[in-house]
Amino acid sequence: MLQSINPAHEEIIQQYAEMSDAEVSKILDQANSTYNEWKLTPFEHRSLLMKNASKILRAKKDELASLMTLEMGKPIAQSKAEVEKCAWVCDYYADNAEKFLTNEIVKTEFSKSYISYQPLGVILAVMPWNFPFWQVFRFAAPTLMAGNAGVLKHASNVMGCALAIENIFIDAGFPENLFRTLLISSKKVEAVIRNKNVQAVTLTGSTPAGKSVASIAGSELKKSLLELGGSDPYVILEDADLESAAEICVNARLINGGQSCIAAKRFIILEEIYKMFEELFLQKMKLKKMGDPFDESNHLGPQARTDLRNELHDQVKISIEKGAKLLLGGGIPSVKGAYYPPTVLTDVSPGMPAYDDEIFGPVASLMKVKNEAEAIKVANATSFGLGAAVFTKDNDRGERIAEKELIAGACFVNDSVRSDPRLPFGGVKESGYGRELSLFGIREFVNIKTVCRK
Ligand code: NAP
Repeated sequence: MLQSINPAHEEIIQQYAEMSDAEVSKILDQANSTYNEWKLTPFEHRSLLMKNASKILRAKKDELASLMTLEMGKPIAQSKAEVEKCAWVCDYYADNAEKFLTNEIVKTEFSKSYISYQPLGVILAVMPWNFPFWQVFRFAAPTLMAGNAGVLKHASNVMGCALAIENIFIDAGFPENLFRTLLISSKKVEAVIRNKNVQAVTLTGSTPAGKSVASIAGSELKKSLLELGGSDPYVILEDADLESAAEICVNARLINGGQSCIAAKRFIILEEIYKMFEELFLQKMKLKKMGDPFDESNHLGPQARTDLRNELHDQVKISIEKGAKLLLGGGIPSVKGAYYPPTVLTDVSPGMPAYDDEIFGPVASLMKVKNEAEAIKVANATSFGLGAAVFTKDNDRGERIAEKELIAGACFVNDSVRSDPRLPFGGVKESGYGRELSLFGIREFVNIKTVCRK
């Protein structure tokens, strides 16, 4: 049985019976048959339907946002913004897919030779709960526009969102079995990857889940794309605008209750400005209100699940046992719900979870370093490589560090790391491989075909 539990009240919202193997198999057959017709449709038709999906998202923004907040506790204003962003990615691929996938002539000795981008078939998406709509739409919009079909195995705690997304595509006029939600737990993912109708898999989630899915896909020689965890470093140089940097850093740590792969997680601060930055950071963290996620005045709702909140607290406790200093928060509040307060740790060093692991919640780790070279070394001393940011008034210095020094898929100067339909998104090292969004995202699940005519 799969169940959605409201993390603010710890009450069951809905239970879903898992689909049987036969039901899943039938859905995959149907998706493949639908794909065989869909791949022949012109871009103009696909764009029209994708624009319909974006209109539905905007029209139902409040309802869909409430569902998200109910199932995983995201502050309601952030849920509404997420729905808007989904509409944006639908519009973006509706407007650009044809341009990104148009044939490209290459001059050779043949009378005609060119590159053509052909769809692959049914693509499986295994998705996380933290951005229950955005993660799915940033997969679905390019994938369907490229002429593929999609099946979604969403995180078990947000199956209400998963079904709502399936309905959006149906209401938008897409063929009935082109995008389907599978009500299954992670144990059944292996069989879906191995099913003959599935051509490729994309997973957004933790590194262990990514490794498991990639090995199964590899054993079937099916393509995989992985968007995994992150431990994004934010480097504060001695010439940074500290007031603005502290404001951006606090917001980047607390967004989505701190449960974002690209949340700011480690703050690496040069010693000459360390004390000033720490004070500003603490002041701003203390201003952030935690409470009912439906109350727009709160910045922080509950964590998405009680078990995850407890794991987070263990990471904090172990870090403190190993010598980290607690400057703020750090305790489980005595209220119902999976709440965890804004927390600040300092004196964080290797061997502590706050240094070595991904901290998926509102817990900031402050680290003092001697100079720029040490800052870059510490920033890169992680198994992850998703995002990174650097703060300095010298834009050229910031750009050099962002482009050449920091090892990550996205590096920002004087701002927080974010995803944008127009820019590629993905990681290196244990943050995964492949890219979503932009031109690169839509070319992940296509056959890049060479065609030559004598
Ligand atoms: P998770 O536990 O890995 O779950 C993600 C999805 O994978 C869920 O649908 C889950 O299903 C499924 N899953 C888990 N273990 C699996 C396995 N062994 N085989 C197949 N499927 C499996 O991650 P999460 O806790 O939901 O999400 C948080 C993680 O996602 C963080 O590490 C975060 O950084 C990462 N993330 C990365 C990005 C990115 O773009 N790079 C974006 C968002 C989040 P069940 O729910 O049924 O277990």
